[in-house]
Amino acid sequence: MSDCIFCRIARGDLPSNKVYEDEEFLAFKDIHPQAPVHILIIPKKHISTLAEASAEDVPLLGRMLELAPRIAREHGAEEGFRTIINTGRHGGQEVYHLHLHILGGQPLPAMLKH
Ligand code: 5GP
Ligand code: ZN
Repeated sequence: MSDCIFCRIARGDLPSNKVYEDEEFLAFKDIHPQAPVHILIIPKKHISTLAEASAEDVPLLGRMLELAPRIAREHGAEEGFRTIINTGRHGGQEVYHLHLHILGGQPLPAMLKH
């Protein structure tokens, strides 16, 4: 999706504070951090929301979850972290390219949108 902001970041057309990249994923710091550690992991493949993910995306989603603790640990969330995927309007999703929030670096409140 050429006009999708996270596709543009994944292509390198827009700058980001990148912390990790491989063939399938990019991870970068959230521009408006809600915690001392606030990183977004995105698949390079454009999937608009978790609700749009299909059975063929299951291995990709699994690898994205597997990646999260590694990135959290390496970027200052050694004592634990929270993962969030906001989905759709009621979920508070603002960017319609699937992304996994990683939040940590301090104890988090019991509920936090992101
Ligand atoms: P959502 O509400 O869709 O789950 O979260 C979108 C997140 O993307 C927000 O936390 C917002 O701060 C972040 N964000 C939006 N635009 C940009 C951007 O251009 N660069 C970075 N690094 N983060 C962004
Ligand atoms: Zn996209």
